[in-house]
Amino acid sequence: MKDIKLFIDGEFITSNHTVDSINPATGEAIARIHLPTNELIDTAVEAAHKAFYQSEWKNFDKNQRADILLKIAEKIKERKDELIEWEIKDSGSVLRKAKADIHNAASYFKVLAGQCRAFEFEVKDERASRDGFSHNYRTYLPVGVCAQIIPWNFPLVMAAWKIGPVIASGSTAVLKTALETPITASILAEILSDSGLPPGVINIITGDADVGQQLIAHPKIRKIAFTGSTQVGKSIMEKASQRIQNISLELGGKSANIILKDADLNLAVDGALYAFLYHQGQACDSGTRLLVDESIYPQFKEALVKRIKDIKIGEPHDPNVGFGPVINSKQSKTIMNYIQSSLREGGNLLYGGRKLEDAPFNKGEFIEPTLIEVDRNNIIFKEEIFGPVLAITTFRTEEEAIDLANDSIYGLAGAVWSKDLSRAKNIASRLETGTVWINEYHLLNPGMPFGGFKQSGLGREMGEEGMKAYLEVQHLWISDCNEREKKVWFDALF
Ligand code: NDP
Repeated sequence: MKDIKLFIDGEFITSNHTVDSINPATGEAIARIHLPTNELIDTAVEAAHKAFYQSEWKNFDKNQRADILLKIAEKIKERKDELIEWEIKDSGSVLRKAKADIHNAASYFKVLAGQCRAFEFEVKDERASRDGFSHNYRTYLPVGVCAQIIPWNFPLVMAAWKIGPVIASGSTAVLKTALETPITASILAEILSDSGLPPGVINIITGDADVGQQLIAHPKIRKIAFTGSTQVGKSIMEKASQRIQNISLELGGKSANIILKDADLNLAVDGALYAFLYHQGQACDSGTRLLVDESIYPQFKEALVKRIKDIKIGEPHDPNVGFGPVINSKQSKTIMNYIQSSLREGGNLLYGGRKLEDAPFNKGEFIEPTLIEVDRNNIIFKEEIFGPVLAITTFRTEEEAIDLANDSIYGLAGAVWSKDLSRAKNIASRLETGTVWINEYHLLNPGMPFGGFKQSGLGREMGEEGMKAYLEVQHLWISDCNEREKKVWFDALF
C-alpha cells in the first residue's frame, strides 16, 4: 500500500485520520490517504500565505518561474512509467488514456513555460499615453493565495492545469485532490520539490467536500479555482460572493456532436464513439448528445451499432483494452439510474444498457457502452451523466441542428462533422460553447483556452487566458506633467 501524505510547506506530513484509495477495476485498496484536520488545512493556507508575502518566491522573475515549469515537465517525463501505473490503478484509466494524460500534463508545463517567458507582465499602452501628460501601463500582478479543487477523472492533468498558472503567475496555492484519486498529485508534489519550487508555494491535500469547504472559506484565500459538477460550482460561487473572491469554474457539459449528411461516414462513426466513450464517458467535454441528419440516419445507426462492438472492455492495464471501469459504485449507480429513467421516458435502447456482473468484471464497476435514441425532452438529453451513455436524435435542417445543440443549460464543447468546411464553420460560430471541433473530438491544445459558456463555467484554463486568470491587472499611471500650473485639475479644489 502506498502512503499518501499531506504536502504542506515542502514537507510530507502524516495525520491520524486515514482512508483507503480503491482501484475501481478490482475493488482493491491500493493506498492509504492521510486526511487533514481543520488545523492542518489552516497550516497549509498559512504556508501558502507566508510563501506569497514573506519568502524568496516574490522575487522570482518570470524566467526563473519558467525554468521551474520546464523542469517539472522534464521530471514528469522521467517518472512517466510510475505515473502511468498509478493513474491506471487509482482512476481506472485504460493504459492508452493514462499514457496520453501523463504526456499531456508534461506538455502543458512545457508550453506554459514558453508562455510565461514570452508574456509581458508590464506593457506600456502607447495609445493611452501622451507625452507631457501621462505614461500608462498595464502591470500584471499575481492574484495571491489560491484554493484549488479538482475531480477524479483526469487526476494528473487536472492538477497540472491548476498548479501551472499559479507558478507562472507568481501566486501560491493549496490544491485539494478528489478523495478517489490522490496518488499522482502526490508524486507531482515530489516533482515540484525536486524542480526547485520553494516550500509553501504549492501545497497539496486530499479530502472530502467538508475539507473543500473549509479550504475555500479560509479568510486568506483570494482566489478559488474549481473543476467538478455544476451543482457544487454553484455553491462555491455563492460562498465566494461573501468576500467577492476571484473565481474560475470549470463545470459540467452536455456537448452536442453534429453529423451533417456530407460527413465522411467511417470517420464520423469512430468520432462519435470516441467523443462519448473516452475514459468511459467521464470527461466533462464528452460528446454525449449525437445529432444526426435524418437523411443519413439509417446507415449511420447501422454503422454505429456495428462499430461499437469492436471496442474491447477489460482490465485497464491490457494494451488492447479501450474501455475500463467507471470510478466507483456511487457513479455506477447514478449511470444505471439515468439509463433506466431514460428508457422509462420512452428512450429506445439500441445497444448496451447493463452493468457487467460476471467475472472478470464482477469486482469492478464496468458498465456497457450504451446507445439510446431519445427526443429532446428525455432526461439523458438534458442532464450530465458522466458515464458511457449516448443520447441520439435526428434533425431535418441546419437550423434544427443548431437549435437542438444550443438547447442546454451547458455550453462546454461540441463538434461538427462535414466535408464542407465553410458550412461547418458557420454552424460552429452559432454554437454557444467554449470549444468546437470540426471533424475532430476531445483534442486540446495547451496554447489555446478551454472553458465553458452558460452553466459550464466561468473563465478559461490553458492558453494565455488561463495564465491571466491568475493575474490581476493594475493600471499604472506615471505622470509626465510635473509643473503645478499645468495641473489645472488640481484647481477644482482651490
Ligand atoms: P463534485 O463536483 O461533487 O466533486 C468535485 C470536487 O469537489 C472533488 O474534489 C470533491 O471532493 C469536491 N467537492 C464536492 N463537494 C464540495 C463542496 N461542497 N465544497 C467544496 N468542494 C467540494 O463531483 P463528484 O465527484 O461528486 O461527481 C458528481 C458528478 O459531478 C458526476 O456524476 C459528474 O456529473 C460531475 N462531475 C463533473 C466533472 C467535470 O469536470 N465537469 C468532474 C467530476 C464530476 P470529494 O470528491 O473528495 O468529495
